[in-house]
Amino acid sequence: MTEPNLKYPYDDHPPPGVIQEVADGVYWLTMPMPGSLSHINLYLLEDDAGWYVVDTGLSNDETKGWWEEIFASSLNGKPVIGVICTHMHPDHIGQSAMITEAFRCPLYMTRAEYYQARSFSNSGGSHHQSWIGAEFYTRAGMPMDYLEQLAQMWASRASEGMSMPTMPSGYERLVDGQVLTIGKHDWQVVVGSGHSPEHACLYCAALKVMISGDQILPIITSNVSVHPTEPNANPLKDWMDSLDELLSVPDDTFILPAHNLPFYGVRERLRGLISHHDDRLLAIEEACVEPQVAKDLLPVLFARELDARQMMMALGEAIAHVHLLMHRNRIERTLHEDGVYRFLSIDPDLARRAHPGSHDAPSDGPVMV
Ligand SMILES: [Zn+2]
Repeated sequence: MTEPNLKYPYDDHPPPGVIQEVADGVYWLTMPMPGSLSHINLYLLEDDAGWYVVDTGLSNDETKGWWEEIFASSLNGKPVIGVICTHMHPDHIGQSAMITEAFRCPLYMTRAEYYQARSFSNSGGSHHQSWIGAEFYTRAGMPMDYLEQLAQMWASRASEGMSMPTMPSGYERLVDGQVLTIGKHDWQVVVGSGHSPEHACLYCAALKVMISGDQILPIITSNVSVHPTEPNANPLKDWMDSLDELLSVPDDTFILPAHNLPFYGVRERLRGLISHHDDRLLAIEEACVEPQVAKDLLPVLFARELDARQMMMALGEAIAHVHLLMHRNRIERTLHEDGVYRFLSIDPDLARRAHPGSHDAPSDGPVMV
């Protein structure tokens, strides 16, 4: 799924260590990421007194080294005076403690993102290794050794710098609608949810620029998952509501995302994402004309054979879709004697209205952002 009319003013990412001005006082830089993702986009906002950093990269030494180079050569002798993290994922918060320590400056985050980051800090995948995790995956139909596979996966991710770092011990709270004045410009905090609990975008009406984090990406579809920590969550409802609200962003806004390239065409992209999920919802609902186990819905969403990490994300996504369908009274869930949930369509007209075979093809695989 791609939208044909998105415009990308830049063909390439700046190489690590280089900052590129993309709007008045707004600079773009990248940090490396392992795997197919390859990079994260970060931004610097210039104030008279210093710089605000928006998102920080992974917690590994390579990223720290690039930051030190930027501090030494690119900041015109001015200090960093604030670190803003859009949300709590490790590629966004990884260097927040390092930078706020180095400059003794505040970390700005929404409350839910800050405390979730702190609660996951240094704990690896431990929330997967309890009866809550075991019950979650059993009910989804996963094999008994799956938790063990997950533990191994988390251990290897830690060595890639993808584990949660120690967070600064205090923060400044961002709330939806709040305005941050940085240099000559006002930036409004726009909170979305679904990919993470309380994701902050920054919107500057005067510059017609939005720093969108993982809330709006032009190519990658952000992961929207149910996790064992909240097994009955409904993040896809939050995500769809957020996409609807973001449709009020003016269409000539330059979107600065955390992954892929900066782009124009925000409404086309949002409509594309809404339609993508609507289509997956219908495909899953149609599959549930027969009772379905969550695990067996993965081929409806993803064509490729999945490794343990991709399986975890894909399963979380499948469960997010069935939970929204349950919320909409399109399917019902029953717990069977084998300890596994079955999902069944409750619309007697569904078979007549269905269009099997004409949905989006399953995508190649989930991408972890
Ligand atoms: Zn993310």
